[in-house]
Order: sequence, then structure tokens, then C-alpha cells
Amino acid sequence: MKEGRKRYVEELRKQLRELYDLFGLNVIEAVGEAAGRIYRIVHTIKGSAPMFGFLRIGTIAEKLVHQWEWAHEHDILAEPDDCKLQRYHACVLNGKVLVQQLSMELDIYAQEMELDEEQEHRGRTVGLPASSRLLVIDDDEVLRSYLVRRLRLEGYEVDETADVEGAQRLLREHSYELITLDLMMHPHSGYELFEYVKDDPTLKWVPLVVLSGRDDLHDKIRCFYLGADDYVTKPFEYEELSARIYSLLKRTKNFEQMAFRDPLTGVYNRRFFDQQIQVELRRVARYPAPISMVFIDIDRFKSINDKHGHHVGDVVLQGLAHLLQKHLRATDLLARLGGEEFVVVLPGVPAEDARTAIEWILQQAHREPVAQYEGKSYYITFSAGVCEWSEGLDCEEWMKFADGAMYTAKQSGRDRVLQYEEGMTMAAQEGHKLESRRKRVLIADDDRILRSILMSKLQHLPIDFVEAADGIEAKDKIARQPSFDLCILDGVMPRMDGIELLEQLAAQEAKPEGLQILLLSGRSREEDVPKILELGVNAYMHKPFSMVELEVKVKQLLELT
Ligand code: GH3
Ligand code: MG
Ligand code: MG
Repeated sequence: MKEGRKRYVEELRKQLRELYDLFGLNVIEAVGEAAGRIYRIVHTIKGSAPMFGFLRIGTIAEKLVHQWEWAHEHDILAEPDDCKLQRYHACVLNGKVLVQQLSMELDIYAQEMELDEEQEHRGRTVGLPASSRLLVIDDDEVLRSYLVRRLRLEGYEVDETADVEGAQRLLREHSYELITLDLMMHPHSGYELFEYVKDDPTLKWVPLVVLSGRDDLHDKIRCFYLGADDYVTKPFEYEELSARIYSLLKRTKNFEQMAFRDPLTGVYNRRFFDQQIQVELRRVARYPAPISMVFIDIDRFKSINDKHGHHVGDVVLQGLAHLLQKHLRATDLLARLGGEEFVVVLPGVPAEDARTAIEWILQQAHREPVAQYEGKSYYITFSAGVCEWSEGLDCEEWMKFADGAMYTAKQSGRDRVLQYEEGMTMAAQEGHKLESRRKRVLIADDDRILRSILMSKLQHLPIDFVEAADGIEAKDKIARQPSFDLCILDGVMPRMDGIELLEQLAAQEAKPEGLQILLLSGRSREEDVPKILELGVNAYMHKPFSMVELEVKVKQLLELT
């Protein structure tokens, strides 16, 4: 049967090719014979495909049979007239669409068969290229369903929608690793989604592939400027699209590792946590469910460093991250907030259960060393504070409560997990030596790769970053959020370059007091230097620059020692 199916697929491909050729005939004398042949072929397919289990192909062939029945019943050439010829041409047009669908279905069946075979050979599921979740936005039902099914066959999790509204709803509720977007849709064009994605800090990282029926230079340029990562024109070869998607996902995965992961422990970093927590809160707003947050801080960690050295401290941090990760669920979000402090968000879990789960992990830490280094075992305990989210609580307060509970756990003897109760934040406020304020740095550069590299290289410093992709955006952010300590400013940007921005700030006396400017310039012209300094630049570097030098300059400007 398997061999039979394979041979049948070959046969079917030949028949589809012949159908295309017949549709191409335009000579009146040949038309009659063509119509008869077309009818015979589609009739055969209709009968044979279901026998080999290709039901969807059978259904489409049935439509074709229906369409060509008239040509079979009347010989068009017996009394050729315009009316018959017109009907013939209309049938050819519709027929081409259906045969295109047949060929798509055939591709899918062929891929399914290949997959089955591979699985038989290996005796297990094939190594999937990615378990990423994708969103396909297209109002062309046939194309969308084809694309979705083929992507699923490759192992992707795929959601689909036919319009911009549907896409916005899905994007609020789930996290996607890549979006494919059709441009020409009703009632809103794909362009409207760009704005939505660009304005949302949780979405602007998601790679966007435009699938467009228009092979138009103007459209392409506009899409890339708006933030598209790729532009593919329809009709496309699925294999090419699939390879492009794969390459984009691989690239962003690497990036994500750099930008969203803590390099020491491999768990998420503060930046990712801040972003993801917003996604979780939006989800809860739509689908009410309990959700808890836990602050975790290692007890007397400083003494581990002091007694055994910083390196052992690092290994212990890795060990705790590993212990937590091992016992948490895949849906829980674990991040390192800095130092020896971790945070966990547990969706769907009320405070009491979260406390039990973390307490169990603490018991585990009592039983087993959290790390081993050069033959020695190291044990730790930690203190943790649990707070369940409740209606009306914003993210900042929520974190403050969890932190307050953790602080109370420290105060009452460490090595325990406490649930938040009213008043715990007060104790924390009084007790905490006020941490020196984190610095705020605006990175204004149109190169988003450079921006993310800068942020990841500097992420160990106590800095919160804000990004701007051009001078106008930077100016707007400086005007509206006047608390920046430093602006790392690219000299050359679209819409308004760095120098222009400085000139405007100077002319309007709008440069906030204390805002330091580090200019990254592409040119190194000594005669520009006085002008630059006059504009209020505190330091400048020429691209390409060394990261080490950049870090030194940033630390100097922010007075971080
Ligand atoms: P407590 O029980 O009150 O939390 O005491 P503690 O010593 O754990 O807390 P404290 O905040 O006083 O000290 C934290 C120490 O963590 C200070 C710092 O040197 C160390 N630390 C921060 N980040 C790292 C890191 O990445 N690696 C290592 N090895 N140590 C770190
Ligand atoms: Mg500690
Ligand atoms: Mg601490």
C-alpha cells in the first residue's frame, strides 16, 4: 500500500502537469479535444484518489468534474459559438485555481508520507526544527490553511486568523515567536498591524514576515522601514518560505539568549521579566485565574563569597537556578533579578499552593547540596515571599508586596517562605537600606542589533534601558520622561540624526539638567569635535568601537564605580 501510494503520488503529479498544459491551449481547433481530455483526467482523479486515502484531493477533483461535465456532454466544436467559448475560458480560469489547490494538497500528503517514513526508520518522533509558536494572518482561506498545515507538519505550533482584529486579540493573549502577515486584507490592511506591533514593547521583538501578492518595490521598502524582517511575494515556494522562517527564528533565538537571558545562570533576566509580566497580567485580565509571584533571596550569601571566593558564589547561584528550574513547571516564569535574588511567577497558582511548592524546594535544599565544586559540597537556605495577584494591583505594587514578604521572612529568622500580609511592605521600607537608584539610559540608534548588543553587554550594571529607533523618537522620550541619566546617541539616524537632535535640544533649551550625552559617530573628523562639545556632548566614540571602552565610558558618565 505504501509503495502504491508513493507511485500514485508520482502519477498524480504527471496528471496535474498535463492539466496545466491543457489549460494553456488556446487554439480554437484544439479546445474541444482539450475539454474532453480534462474531463477524463479529473474524473479519474476523483475516482482514484480516495482509494489511496487522499480524501481531500478526491473532494477537489469532484468539484472539477462538476465544472467540466458540460464540456464532456456537448462537443463544443460541433457547433462552436462565442457563448460556448466564453464558458470554456471561464472554466479554465476556475480550473486553474482548483488544480493549484490539488497541487498544494498533494504537497501536504507527500510531506506527511515522508514524515511517516522517517518516523518508521528512526522509531521515534523526528527531531523537530523548532517548537516555536507562529501566527499566520491571511484572509485567503485556501492559502492560509495550506500554510498552517505545512508549518504544523514541520512541528511548529501555529495559530491563524483572517484579519487584523483577530490578530490583535491573539497577540494580546499568547506569545508568538514569529508572525506572517498578508498585506491586502479587509476591512483593515496588514499595514495597520505594524503600528500596533511597533508600539508594544512586548511585540516589537517578534519577527514579522510579510506575505504579499504585490511584487511592488514601494510596498517592499515601506514594509522594511515599518519593521518587517522579511518580504515574500505570492505565489511563493513553500520550501523557500519555510527556510526563511527557520533562519529568522534561529537568529532571534540567539538574540534572545543574548538579550533576555542572564549569562551566569541561563534563566531569564530582569528585562525579560519586566516584559513578560505585562503579558501575564493582560492574560489574567481576559481569563481570570489565580497567579502568584515569589521573591527568593539566598541567606547569608555574602559569607559564601567571603569564605570560599566569588567563583564558588557563582557556582552556587547556578545551582539554585538549576534547582528552581527543575522543580518548577514549564509554564512558570523564573528570572534572576540581580545579585542572589530570583523571582518566580506561577500562572494559575494561588498563594497557598505557591508557598507549598517553594517550601518543598527549600526542603530539597536542606537535603542536597545546591552545588559542588572541586570535590566540596555547598548547601544553602533561602528566604522567600509569596504574593498572589489581586484585582487592581499593578505590577510595581505586586512586586513590592512579594519583596515585603521576603524581607519579613529574613527579619523573622531566614530559611522560610512567607505569604504576604498587610503591613509587610512597611517593615521592608523601614528596614531596607535604600538601594542606590538604578540609572536610566536611553539608547538612540536605528540599528536594533547594535541596541540589543549594547544592552546585553551592559546588563550587569544597575541600569534600566529605554530604546529609541530614531532622533524624533529619542527627542520625544527625552521630553516626556525627563529622568534619564545618560543618552547613548547615534550620530546618523533616519528622520532626525543625533546632531540635529542636540541642536534642537540646545535651541529649545530642552536638554534636561544632568543628562549626559555619549555620541557614537560614524565619522572621525577632528574638526567636528569642537562643534560636538559645544552641543553638550560629554563623550564621544567612533564606530566601530570596543565594548570595553564603551563600558568604561558609560561607567564614568554614570559615576558607577
Ligand atoms: P541576607 O541573608 O540578608 O540576604 O544576606 P546576604 O549576604 O545574602 O545579602 P547581601 O545583599 O548583603 O549580599 C549579597 C551578596 O551577593 C553581595 C554580592 O557580593 C554578592 N553577589 C551579587 N551578585 C553576585 C554574583 O553574580 N556572583 C557572586 N559570586 N556574588 C554576587
Ligand atoms: Mg541574600
Ligand atoms: Mg541581597
